[in-house]
Amino acid sequence: MERVIAIDPSGCGCTECMVGEYVPLDQATAEQVVDMLAGSVRNNTCRDLRVSLVYTLGNGLDMSQAVLVEVQLAEGEDGSPLVWTVPQEAARALTW
Ligand SMILES: [Zn+2]
Repeated sequence: MERVIAIDPSGCGCTECMVGEYVPLDQATAEQVVDMLAGSVRNNTCRDLRVSLVYTLGNGLDMSQAVLVEVQLAEGEDGSPLVWTVPQEAARALTW
């Protein structure tokens, strides 16, 4: 998969999104979204995002061992959330 350097707003059709340097938020993969939250992909989404992260926590463990399984991002206060299921290898960047 080609590595993008930034995530743009949903529906963006700029030149960088056309050539694959950037990706619109609504077309981003879970890996790209996790990289954006971790800071290695630039956040160009232009609006405040409402971020919800879902972890699973095994019996007897604390949050340092929790596994990120889902990311929900909504653009703006009233936007409906986009949801990504996070593959385990992509979740490591956001562990506590
Ligand atoms: Zn764009």
